[in-house]
Parts: sequence; C-alpha cells; structure tokens
Amino acid sequence: MTDTNIRTQIDEALTRVHDGERISYDDGLLLYQHADVLDIADAANARRQQLNPGDVVTYLIDRNINYTNVCITDCQFCNFYAQPGDTTKGYINSKAILGKKIEETLALGGTRILMQGGHHPDLPLEYYIDLVDWIHRTYPAIAINAFSPSEIQHIGFVSGESWHSILTKLKAVGMTGLPGGGGEILDDEIRKRVSPKKIMTDDWFGVMKVAHELGLTTTATMVIGFREELRHRMNHLQRLRDEQDDSLKRFGTGFNAFISWSVQIMNTPLEKSKFAAEYGATSTEYLRHTAIARVFLDNLPHISASWPTQGAKVGQMALHFGCDDFGSTMIEENVVSAAGAITKVMPAMEPREIHRQIREAGFIPAQRDTDYHTMKVYPNISDDDTLVDLEDVLNPKADADANGGNWQPLTLV
Ligand code: SF4
Repeated sequence: MTDTNIRTQIDEALTRVHDGERISYDDGLLLYQHADVLDIADAANARRQQLNPGDVVTYLIDRNINYTNVCITDCQFCNFYAQPGDTTKGYINSKAILGKKIEETLALGGTRILMQGGHHPDLPLEYYIDLVDWIHRTYPAIAINAFSPSEIQHIGFVSGESWHSILTKLKAVGMTGLPGGGGEILDDEIRKRVSPKKIMTDDWFGVMKVAHELGLTTTATMVIGFREELRHRMNHLQRLRDEQDDSLKRFGTGFNAFISWSVQIMNTPLEKSKFAAEYGATSTEYLRHTAIARVFLDNLPHISASWPTQGAKVGQMALHFGCDDFGSTMIEENVVSAAGAITKVMPAMEPREIHRQIREAGFIPAQRDTDYHTMKVYPNISDDDTLVDLEDVLNPKADADANGGNWQPLTLV
C-alpha cells in the first residue's frame, strides 16, 4: 500500500468514528500502526462524547482488598503471591482485619470493595460464601465486587461446582459483581507464555457470560506490554466487542467499563528474563492503546484511566484520549503495587486530590457508584468542603493498638 493509500484509509476510518459508526478490526490495526497519535485522540474524544456527552469525569471511592495472597498459579508477572506453606509471606486475612478495612472505606465515603485473592488450594466454596455473606450482613451499604474469572474457575476446580452454581450462590448472599481482573492479554498465545496455569481466553469470557446472565456488574481489563504483537491486542479488543454484543443481545447487560494499563514487572520472573527490557509500555503507547480501545469498543459505555500504574500525570492525559472516568481512590492495592506500580510509593489518591487532577485536566469531577451512576457532581472547589481526607480515616498507629499489632500495611512489598 502506498503512503497515499494508507493516508486515505486512515482518514476514512477516523471519519467513520467521528460519524458514530463502527470500525473494523483492520481499521483498528491500521490506526494502531500508522495514524498520528493526536488524530486517534481526537477520534477517541469524539467517541467519548457520543457515549458520554459533556465534561464530567467520574471516579469511585473504593478499596482493593485481598483475602489471601496464597496462590498455586505462578504467573510470570506476579510478585504478590506466596506459595502454599510460606508462613513468612503468605496470609489469609481475618474478618477483623477485613472489617476494619471496610469500615475505613465507608468512613471515606466509599461505596465498593474490590475483593480478590490468590488461588488458594485449600479454601472450599463455603469459605467464599461465608465471607461474602458476613460482609454483606455486617456492612450492607458496601457493594461487593469480588473474585475475578480466574478465581471463579479455581473455586470450580476445588469445589467441583459449575460457574453458574458458584456465582448464583455468591449472588444470593450479597455479591454484586465481578472484577475484570486476570484478563491481561486475552489471546492464548500470550497467556500460555506468561501465565500458562491461569484461566485461558474462552473460560475467562465463559465466566463473564454467566455473570452477565445473572445480572452481576462486570468490567473488562487489559494489560499491555507482554511483548505481544499488535494483532494480539486487536484480538483481545475484537473478542471483547463480540462478547459484549452477544451479552447485550441475550441478557440486556454486559461489561460496564474497560480499563487497561501496562504490565509492571519489578521483582517478578519477567524482570529476570533476557527480554526484560522489552516488557512494559511507554506512556505514549499506553495513551495510544487507550484511545484505540475507546474508538473500537463502541458498545462499552465507559473507559477508565489508570493512574495507579501510569501515574497521575498520564492519568490526566488519558482524559484527553477518550477516558470519561478516573478510576478509583485505590485506598489499598497490593497486586500491581508489588510489581512496581505507582501505588507502591503512593498507595492512594484521596477524593480531594482526584478532584484536583480532574479539574486541572479541564473536566468536572463527580463521584459515581460501582454501576457508574453519578452520585454527586463537584463543579466548584468549594464543593470539596464536604470531602473526608484519608488522614482522618487511616491511622496506622491506632489500628496497630486496636488490633494487637495486626495492622496490615497499605502496601505489601
Ligand atoms: S496474578 Fe493472581 S493468579 Fe497469578 S500468581 Fe499472582 S495471585 Fe496467582
């Protein structure tokens, strides 16, 4: 193809986006390979305005909670987990500790916990049901998005029960949704190389399909920088769009948002590989990917920026690359933090700071709930007077005293 032909095809693809039309896999690949990054950003902002008109950028006050870090899956990009029997690093958090974390989240105005853990070989289905049941009965105001598809698959292996049965039982005791975790690159060529024991693509979507059938809240994630080719990224996006079309048609519901970030490899087996320098993605690559996802995923309502992995400054830029959401406060995050994400040194962004970031990027902050319903819009700085600050909620010294020294640090490294 000549340069002129490529330019013409790029212009046609971008025009399709600006006209509100769907673009093809080949269009996406072409834009990825050849389009100017600012032209893609412009198209992504157009798509964002078609789906979420206006200047409001939402965010969520929530906390990522890990019930255990014990895992048998040995993903090459993970520095979070401990092998079964590792009494130095391994843990299962008690209800007392989990309860304290939820109470702090509620005190900050939080509305959701995102609860995930390793693939513990010995925890029965009853453990998960009891845990969700206890949280829901004790803290009915908090939404519980828990257990990503790989955990549901693992619970199925341990219990012998179907995904439908497991999710039905968890929903019955108060689980509201599933995190989109464990997606990484949803192309088995890559998954077999970096996480061969983890859930494969068909099963990841299979669990999510059951979740959609049951009306559970779900999000879709994607992690780039595994030395994948652009076709692997497009395969992920294409499969996601196809599955979303199917879920919307069959159940009237599907993924409510998409968020991507670049892989973090510090202290992981990938860091020790001879290809270490080739893992990860630059800020420009992340922004280009985010914008491509926005224009391609025309049936997913929201795209979130990922400040915890990319940093606040790139998170702000992502709002000009089609994102309508700034993610969450991330009061606590332990998984990507352990592999070197921003949260390793800055474990949270309190609502007041999120508002500053959003406003300085030229948008209006609004708190949302887990289903992306806007709870409160904050057009003016004076509106922030009602916000609660993290230092008023989190007090490690008092927590240590109250828990007999069992305070769990915000970031486990
Ligand atoms: S990423 Fe999850 S499944 Fe993989 S080793 Fe870490 S805790 Fe286990």
